[in-house]
Amino acid sequence: MSNPATAIFAERESEVRSYCRNWPVVFDTSKGPYQTTEDGERYTDFFSGAGALNYGHNNDILKEALIEYVSRDGVTHSMDMHTKAKREFLEAFTELILEPRGMTHKIQFPGPTGTNAVETALKTARKATGREDVVHFTNAFHGMTLGSLAVTGNAFKRAGAGTPLYHATAAPYDDYIVGETSDFAWLKRIWADSGSGTSLPAAVIVETVQGEGGLKAARGEWLKELQDLCREYGVLMIVDDVQAGCGRTGTFFSFEDFGLDPDIITLSKSISGYGLPMALTLMKPEIDDWEPGEHNGTFRGHNPAFVTGAKALRTYWADDTLEKNIAARAQELTERLEVLAGLAEGSELRGRGLLSGVAFADLEVAEKIAKAAFARKLLVETSGPSSEVVKIMPPLTITKDELAAGLDQLEDATREVLG
Ligand code: PMP
Repeated sequence: MSNPATAIFAERESEVRSYCRNWPVVFDTSKGPYQTTEDGERYTDFFSGAGALNYGHNNDILKEALIEYVSRDGVTHSMDMHTKAKREFLEAFTELILEPRGMTHKIQFPGPTGTNAVETALKTARKATGREDVVHFTNAFHGMTLGSLAVTGNAFKRAGAGTPLYHATAAPYDDYIVGETSDFAWLKRIWADSGSGTSLPAAVIVETVQGEGGLKAARGEWLKELQDLCREYGVLMIVDDVQAGCGRTGTFFSFEDFGLDPDIITLSKSISGYGLPMALTLMKPEIDDWEPGEHNGTFRGHNPAFVTGAKALRTYWADDTLEKNIAARAQELTERLEVLAGLAEGSELRGRGLLSGVAFADLEVAEKIAKAAFARKLLVETSGPSSEVVKIMPPLTITKDELAAGLDQLEDATREVLG
């Protein structure tokens, strides 16, 4: 029987919708790590808007800043004119994120969402090098517009879209994660052999943890070696930190502990801090040779998002309180996930920090666990080419008790599924 509360979604929304099928309830309010339905049923949210809510739902500090801004008629939209809100965001980002890390990157506000940041990264690399190809990795996820889709290693998502917009080469991610070898000899051979008919690419685009592709986490040495190779051949290195950035893996950028200095970095999801659409593309000054108006758009920096974004940086990145919480919670999460992994042969712990999960050898299991978790009022997503990974992404601000309670629900669900 059709549910009157959800009938209009089924009738009017395109078939492309997915999360509502996994979680067929209607949410109305949300707070911290919880979302509540219009009927007052509270769910623990270990999905966090796919990483867009790192500071929790309706974070009080950010909400207050937004209310204050809106109630004094702060500019909401002004194309890319200078505004006080934008200045304060740029100042906070420079002072708290770039300068302490010795980074001199320029910032583009590429549009509202992650794929806009990736498109801008790809265009910047092609413009700066005058080359076309971009190397990406198997199972990578970089977005759903035609450019970012061309570097997304997911056959299902690419299938309906026809020929990719430009030539992109897929390189294997997996072998170099867990294997002993971190040898890019194969790539080097292609790049060094100008007679082979292949030309040097403009860039390599890489995620340090494949958020959608199965939570595989690249080793730091592998990434460093990739960077060295890029440097040797003048190929630009793009780190897509849309999902793994903004603290998810334990540090603001997911690559900080590896000594990387990417030419281009993409950020989105939690950069506004409040679930407001916002994205950044960071690029080294020497490759920022855009002419005014050459790459424009309407919503390239939304002032309310600047306000909450600046407030989030000043609240959570001026000292190491949040980083300590992420480290402590990540340790607890890992211990609990190890127990779950121990329940099924061939399963494997994946990810880093609070972007972690368990991959199951039986490809059906993770989806069943997510379903059983939903029945217990816990929202968890799956990841990976066969949705074989249970993916856990609580808010970075979650307390020990809140995390433990959600993980109890997850453990119950897992034990039920595994019998
Ligand atoms: N890059 C990565 C690494 C992502 O995880 C995502 C979104 N899951 C994107 C790009 C695209 O972001 P958006 O969905 O906001 O366009």
